[in-house]
Amino acid sequence: MSLEVLTPPAGKGTGDYIENVLWSVKERNPAEPEFHQAVQEVFESLRSVLPKHPEFRAAKILERIVEPERVIMFRVPWFDDQGEIHLNRGFRIQMNSAIGPYKGGLRFHASVNLGILKFLAFEQVFKNSLTTLSMGGAKGGSDFDPKGKSDNEVMRFCQSFMTELWRHIGPNSDVPAGDIGVGGREIGFLFGQYKRLANEFSGVLTGKGLSWGGSLIRPEATGYGCVYFAKEMLKTRNDSLEGKLCLVSGSGNVSQYTVEKLLEFGAKPITLSDSDGMIVDPEGINREKLAWVMQLKNVRRGRIQQYAQQFPKAMFLPTDRKLDHNQLWNVKADCAFPSATQNEINAKDATTLIKNGVKLVAEGANMPCTLPATKLFLEAGILYGPAKAANAGGVATSGLEMVQNSMRLNWTREEVDDRLHRIMIAVHKTCYETAEEYGTPGNLVNGANIGGFLKVANAMLDQGLV
Ligand code: NAP
Repeated sequence: MSLEVLTPPAGKGTGDYIENVLWSVKERNPAEPEFHQAVQEVFESLRSVLPKHPEFRAAKILERIVEPERVIMFRVPWFDDQGEIHLNRGFRIQMNSAIGPYKGGLRFHASVNLGILKFLAFEQVFKNSLTTLSMGGAKGGSDFDPKGKSDNEVMRFCQSFMTELWRHIGPNSDVPAGDIGVGGREIGFLFGQYKRLANEFSGVLTGKGLSWGGSLIRPEATGYGCVYFAKEMLKTRNDSLEGKLCLVSGSGNVSQYTVEKLLEFGAKPITLSDSDGMIVDPEGINREKLAWVMQLKNVRRGRIQQYAQQFPKAMFLPTDRKLDHNQLWNVKADCAFPSATQNEINAKDATTLIKNGVKLVAEGANMPCTLPATKLFLEAGILYGPAKAANAGGVATSGLEMVQNSMRLNWTREEVDDRLHRIMIAVHKTCYETAEEYGTPGNLVNGANIGGFLKVANAMLDQGLV
């Protein structure tokens, strides 16, 4: 297929340039709805940019930015504890390296496929650009599900995965990190195998253990950063998190540290979830309860249902896949922090949240809102922090881990946290000011998409046709 924009057949396209490129993306990448969704959201924001920058169209920046620089897909065979052979599929999408080495997480989850990783890699390009650091965008992972596997099985899988991946990555070319299903344990196994194969000790992964090159605050960074971003959003309305009732979904890395920082700022988080269901705790999830959740999820690897057995005032609601909405968003609160997965808030959920008076939505997860849900939040004029800005603290602190590895020294907890905080303030400022400059004040979706895009697009222009 030619790399020209395909011309839509009569009656399919609108003749509009952006619509045509989008149509072409859908034609060329069928069965990748999440990727189409992510591209559509960014492209809609670029409508006000292209008339001011005809050079982007002339250089086919839109057509080039949606095409990964490289896609690697490979077989991952491994033995379980009974000696039975299993096969998974491994991926690395190296999307764009215009402003720095590829950087982005690895996701291990049964739902992983090419389209989901392409949406995540695409988002990562603009997110990394917003962090103020020099990082290109990538994403990778596997349809391997670590749930219910022994530590040895996870290790054997990680070793097999890295046995192929190691030749495609490096501290100056591509530096993966964690994401869903890839935490400290998995990063350790992956790093060990990389070191053995490459015969070098380098900063090739981030999220490493503290005694072998990791950065303080990296585990906390996405959740903390999201709450710092929320604080900045509220400030623009002379408001704060003090006393706010907050909904948090998920119960993994991002959710846990979102709850921790919310407590520090005087807010009251009342929900958590996993794929089996959700809990509501009307008394609030305090520090002691959070410590119990961290032990449950990170050490015992249990299910959130157990929270309601441990703390009887809390209620557990199992996931009902027949419902056309997510029950967690029915709970009345001031702020919502979706921190589990993509498309966990649909239009019905958004309508309920707005009806219940939600003031702020800050996206800890990547693309947790469908396009119609995003539109409803923007129309309602609530404070809406899109993922590529609100959850940029994780990758920003990965960037800080790379800096420390290059210098072969470690900053203190306070120093890293202070830098993270300042980066989140800067990300918010870019989004806020860019939204104003391009005629949509308060629309941080436009601010984030345009702010992230301009830096990458200009770098692509400077570097010629590569
Ligand atoms: P995690 O530690 O693996 O936790 C994920 C949580 O979300 C778990 O509670 C999981 O429940 C739940 N979940 C995952 N898939 C689900 C599904 N299909 N339906 C319902 N619940 C689901 O992962 P994480 O690092 O916190 O990542 C959460 C989100 O934040 C993802 O969108 C990720 O891309 C985004 N993010 C993460 C980082 C980071 O630094 N980690 C940075 C930026 C963005 P189960 O255990 O039952 O699956």
